[in-house]
Amino acid sequence: MHEMAIAEGILDISLNYAKREKAKKIACVSLLLGEMSGVETEALTFCFESLVKDTIAEGSSLVINRIPLMGRCKECANEEHIEHYNFVCHKCGGTLEVISGRELQVEYIDME
Ligand SMILES: [Zn+2]
Repeated sequence: MHEMAIAEGILDISLNYAKREKAKKIACVSLLLGEMSGVETEALTFCFESLVKDTIAEGSSLVINRIPLMGRCKECANEEHIEHYNFVCHKCGGTLEVISGRELQVEYIDME
C-alpha cells in the first residue's frame, strides 16, 4: 500500500528528529499534503496510527494540511485552482504550470 510506505517515511523522519533533539515524546506531526500527491488522507492516518505503537510517537496526532492544486498561466500569469486535471487557463486558453499541490512533506513536529 502506497500510504503505508509514506507513513513509514513520515515516522522515520519524526523519530530521527526527536532523537537528535533528545525528545522523550512526539505529540504531533504536521504534514503538508498536495492535492496532486495522490495520497488518501484517511488511509495515511490509519497507517500512521498503527505504526506509532510502541514508539515515542504513540498517541501522537497526525495533522494533515491539504494544499490545493494551483496553476499559473504561462501566457497571461493568471493563477487558478486546477480542477479535474484540466491544465488550461480559463482566461486565455494558455497552459497552466503547477505552482502548488505536489507537496508531501513534514511541516513541523511537536515534541515534549
Ligand atoms: Zn492565461
